[in-house]
Amino acid sequence: MQAEKTKSPAKGAGLEQSREYFTKLKLLLKVGLLVAFLTPLSILSVYFHFQFNVSLKESGKLHLAALAQSQRNTVDLFLQERVLNIFSVFQSSEFNLAPSELDMQHYLQNLRQASDAFIDVGFFDQEGVQIGYAGPYPYLHGRDYSDEDWFRSLIDLERNYYISDIYLGFRNKPHFTIAVKQLIDGKYYVVRATLDPDKFYLFLRGISRGKGVDSALVNSEGKYQVVDPDRGQLFGPSDYAPTEAKESGVKEIEINGSSVLVSYYRLSEVPWTLVVREPLRVAYAEMYRTRRIIIIVTGVIILATIAAIWLIVDNLINRAEATEESRAELKYQLIHASKLASVGELAAGVAHEINNPLAIIVSESGVIRDMLDPEFGLDSSPESIRAELDEIDTAVFRARGITQKLLNFARKHEPRLVPCDINKILDNVVGGLKEREFLVSDIELEKNYARDLPLVSLDPDQIAQVFLNLINNAQDAIVGEGKITLSTSLDDGRVYVTVADTGAGMTPEQMGKIFLPFFTTKEVGKGTGLGLSVSLSIVESMGGTIEVQSLPGSGSSFTVVLPAG
Ligand code: ADP
Repeated sequence: MQAEKTKSPAKGAGLEQSREYFTKLKLLLKVGLLVAFLTPLSILSVYFHFQFNVSLKESGKLHLAALAQSQRNTVDLFLQERVLNIFSVFQSSEFNLAPSELDMQHYLQNLRQASDAFIDVGFFDQEGVQIGYAGPYPYLHGRDYSDEDWFRSLIDLERNYYISDIYLGFRNKPHFTIAVKQLIDGKYYVVRATLDPDKFYLFLRGISRGKGVDSALVNSEGKYQVVDPDRGQLFGPSDYAPTEAKESGVKEIEINGSSVLVSYYRLSEVPWTLVVREPLRVAYAEMYRTRRIIIIVTGVIILATIAAIWLIVDNLINRAEATEESRAELKYQLIHASKLASVGELAAGVAHEINNPLAIIVSESGVIRDMLDPEFGLDSSPESIRAELDEIDTAVFRARGITQKLLNFARKHEPRLVPCDINKILDNVVGGLKEREFLVSDIELEKNYARDLPLVSLDPDQIAQVFLNLINNAQDAIVGEGKITLSTSLDDGRVYVTVADTGAGMTPEQMGKIFLPFFTTKEVGKGTGLGLSVSLSIVESMGGTIEVQSLPGSGSSFTVVLPAG
């Protein structure tokens, strides 16, 4: 049967190291938690921030594009209505192929009722001669327009109406023409009206909504047709010339050093493009506001996280430290309590030891008294009396030595590390009293000490208590004859101290419990169950362990392993 082997639990950190350990732990935890919390938070914030910007920019663009589209529709509708107004001339009841001035005045009146943008109206025969006119430029009556762009375009067009760009014309004033043609008796007749671009501009401004938004109309060459005087000049180049290829679009551009969002939409009635522009700070106002909120909220979350981690870690570690300290204090108390308990056990033995010198003192003083009594006729020379007094002194010193040891053992003190000769400490523990006890109870003591053992930095009182506990247990395990072997050795930087006995041994179940405080199999009054748990605490606090091997019926061996350094 193989001897059972067990090892003491992991080493506990020394109390003096624990503070340093907790400070390090605090810092590590704080840094670790901050990195763990803040890294994903920062990545997420940056990601959301980016996503938010993209989607809010997109919605700003969509909003302006929708505005441009709705304005484009309104302008197209305006022009279509004007075309219909002019067509209505052909449909009027007084229409004739040679309109009088009155007829023309009447037509103009009707047109102006529909829109005040109309300036004048003219009636043209197939050769392009203005045969009827009403309006502020009567000298245009009778003019030949056959070489004018608008006239030639209208006649060539499949469509029976034409809307011109804005131009100066014979009157040398900006205006644009809407002309319609009608085939009557195989010949084309034309009614054309001119419109005032200023009125058109007022109309366009009226449909432009929103702060900072302004709209302009640009012809196919990128020249302004209708524009706010602050933005550009009539016939001047547009700040943004839309591409031919696309009917509509939205772009961010720089105009005079400031960023502007531009949306354009081509008109369907005339080759013009509506260009709506809005400063970026207005277009993305919502985005900038949200961005500010996100930055502030993220900042607050980060600060709150840092504060929370700081406080929680401080609190937790302080509590753990306090628990560790009270645990260490408890351990210390336990060692002391066990010492006192051992003192109780020791006291019985010691009482016997002290009684002996006391008895010697009493008998020696009786002898002296008899020597001084002439009745007994004893030798009362000073030498004889001095010899007896020397005996008394010896007995007194012996008793004092015992009480001194007892006091040393019971005194509670902080661990005091000094270089110790372990062999010597073992000898002290088994010397005197113990050796005599072994003799009385037929226990053989064998010592296998290593001679080359280095001095080990230990608290000599505490390690002596450990050895005493192990030796007491070995002694208690032996019933009748038996042997206790004390061995020391050095191996691989460690010092091994083994207390082996040929006693009762232990079952595996017992071995699982022996280091628990208050576990004892000894009779009441004999064992406290504290010896091994306290010994283990002491050894661990010195950076060592206790290993146990045992076989029921054959004996046990307890090995204290200590670092030699
Ligand atoms: P106590 O000696 O007061 O009982 P310990 O903690 O020293 O307390 O020991 C706990 C128990 O471990 C003992 O009661 C005994 O059962 C067992 N034990 C310790 N040493 C030995 C040994 N050398 N041989 C057999 N049993 C032992």
